[in-house]
Amino acid sequence: MTNIIFLGPPGAGKGTQAIRLAEHLGLVHLATGDMLRAAVADGTELGQQAKTIMERGDLVPDELVIAMLMERMADASKGVILDGFPRTLPQAEALDEKLSGQIDLVLLLEVPEDELVERMLGRGRADDTEEAVRNRLVVYQEQTAPLISYYGDKGLLQPVDGVGDMNTIQQRITDAVSQSAAL
Ligand code: AMP
Repeated sequence: MTNIIFLGPPGAGKGTQAIRLAEHLGLVHLATGDMLRAAVADGTELGQQAKTIMERGDLVPDELVIAMLMERMADASKGVILDGFPRTLPQAEALDEKLSGQIDLVLLLEVPEDELVERMLGRGRADDTEEAVRNRLVVYQEQTAPLISYYGDKGLLQPVDGVGDMNTIQQRITDAVSQSAAL
């Protein structure tokens, strides 16, 4: 079983790279942002609760996101590539418990803030207004960035330069994965 987490600010390119790595390793790609957008589009109860929170660029409450993800992890016996989860310490702790600490690698995709704003505004989705984009970066610093030392302390963190073309970044990621002691 191989479990890899993609960590990094919004707009860093986690989605694209997580999909590619999942294909490469034959693992399931689980993206909580995609699941939440699907719930909003389907108008489920979860979607109705999440919609305005996502539009503001805030985080959906831990208990909702944790329950949603755990349900989907049930059918991923070979392992998962997690994209956009965990985003808070309680989420990271819930994940440790679920996987009995079996996390192999945490890839931290690093991109300077100016470039992040530019990339996200260029995307033009409903949750990408300038105000929401700026808020998402603040939320990242406050609630998600503490996970860098959480996983760093466990010796699982591997920073990857997220600037460049997609294939170059993909190569950096495959190199980081093949150099990882746990894999
Ligand atoms: P993403 O596509 O990963 O950038 O996520 C889009 C939005 O979904 C975020 O701005 C949050 O509002 C929400 N979201 C996604 N993943 C999580 C998570 N792990 N915890 C809380 N909210 C999340």
